[in-house]
Amino acid sequence: MRGDPVSAPSFPDPQPTAPPVSPLDPAWLAQMANAMFGALPAAPGPAYDPRDALAAPAVAVTYPTVRPAMPEPPAASSTPQFYFVDAAVPPPGDRTGAHPAFDVHAVRRDFPTLQERINGHPVAWLDNAATTHKPQAVIDRLAQFYAHENSNIHRAAHALAGRATDAYEGARETVRRFINAPAVEEVVFVRGATEAINLVAKSWGVRHVGKDDEIVVSHLEHHANIVPWQQLAAATGARLRVIPVDDSGQLRLDEFARLLNRRTKLVAVTQVSNALGTVAPVAQIAAMARRAGARVLVDAAQSVSHMRVDVQALDADFLVFSGHKVFAPTGIGVLWGKREVLEDMPPWQGGGNMIADVTFEHTEFQGIPNRFEAGTGNIADAAGLGAALDYVNRIGIENIALHEHALLDYGMRELGAIRGVRLIGTAQDKASVMSFVLAGYETFEVGAALDRQGIAVRTGHHCAQPILHRFGLEATVRPSLAFYNTRDEIDRLVRVVRDLAARRRSA
Ligand code: PLP
Repeated sequence: MRGDPVSAPSFPDPQPTAPPVSPLDPAWLAQMANAMFGALPAAPGPAYDPRDALAAPAVAVTYPTVRPAMPEPPAASSTPQFYFVDAAVPPPGDRTGAHPAFDVHAVRRDFPTLQERINGHPVAWLDNAATTHKPQAVIDRLAQFYAHENSNIHRAAHALAGRATDAYEGARETVRRFINAPAVEEVVFVRGATEAINLVAKSWGVRHVGKDDEIVVSHLEHHANIVPWQQLAAATGARLRVIPVDDSGQLRLDEFARLLNRRTKLVAVTQVSNALGTVAPVAQIAAMARRAGARVLVDAAQSVSHMRVDVQALDADFLVFSGHKVFAPTGIGVLWGKREVLEDMPPWQGGGNMIADVTFEHTEFQGIPNRFEAGTGNIADAAGLGAALDYVNRIGIENIALHEHALLDYGMRELGAIRGVRLIGTAQDKASVMSFVLAGYETFEVGAALDRQGIAVRTGHHCAQPILHRFGLEATVRPSLAFYNTRDEIDRLVRVVRDLAARRRSA
């Protein structure tokens, strides 16, 4: 027997014999192209100037490279300054929106990995949905922590404990500002989105989900937002129900409305699909779920790096994301939850840091967020996450969204024009991801051909098998964008795919 599979009563996949995806709607393409580029020149077009595509403000200023000099260590102090960001922490990010124009070439210089050569070519990193590269500011922040601040946190009278605690709690406050959470105590540090979802399933879920209750997810979900709910359903006798998608990969809200009922306890949906790039209308979904009396979890793993995520505007109950997908280190992520919801949840792990008092007879737990952070946390990488979010703030998430949207529109148009390419995920509202298959090739063959030219994309099922099955597939080639990508990199990608397609036709 293979492994220990969880079998939970679940409704069959919606639309199991779905028709193949319809080709990219030319009317929509024309509309998007006009919106982003104005009238497009016939190929081959003029050299790419991102400012053309981005409708830059009247005065274009080069964005300064974000690479602060390593600050001096803070002056020795006999009094730890818990919970106050001291001079060792980079200044907080700017949320005012007053940003200089975006210069992709200047920004790229902040990322050492983007200067690498692969197989003799400059690396073109189009695997951002898997993980992102780190700006020098984040790398420096980690080095600074270990050189000048390293200590365990919270419970010591010495100065380094104070610095480390300031670094960790300062990062928590940076996260709070980044997602516009009402209170810093609502931000729980975890390893990543996967751990955050498991925490909710194993703490909130065990307390609030019972036999015959229903948990609604969407057909777009990453396995991280399916399997923990299946496990919960198997343990409690609850059912998993699935919001279907249309042929473009957008969620069917009419079907969602039909799924909601008084047994629905939780709706857990992704904001951006990692396999298709669909941007789901999560605010609308949250409002509908709330009217049915259900709690809402938003998986923001693929959205935080591409668009403004505001937990108060979404009005969900939980939101999760991973640091490494937003230019921060691996091993650090965030669970945000509404105060009253978190306060009603039992701890899911026991140990140090999460307790107020322990005897052999009884343990008193800390309040939120510490009650969910048993043991020594990932202190340095939390500081790295703070630095990454500061960096994103300095560039401006709106600048990022504009630049990426122009690239996505261009890439979809160019890839979609290649004979033999079938684009998977053509919803009008999309971010970052350009999944496709190429007739006559296995996806790994396309990935290998791209790698030979220094172009990194993911091939496979992207930990989202149900949505690929929905389109009759086991795998796609998935280029995915971040703000440091260029039109030139997309041209390199398209050239390889076009060559492969032509070779197969002439074979
Ligand atoms: N949710 C989505 C939409 C994802 O794309 C991913 C990772 O690709 C995850 C959750 C899981 O993230 P992690 O592996 O960082 O925990």
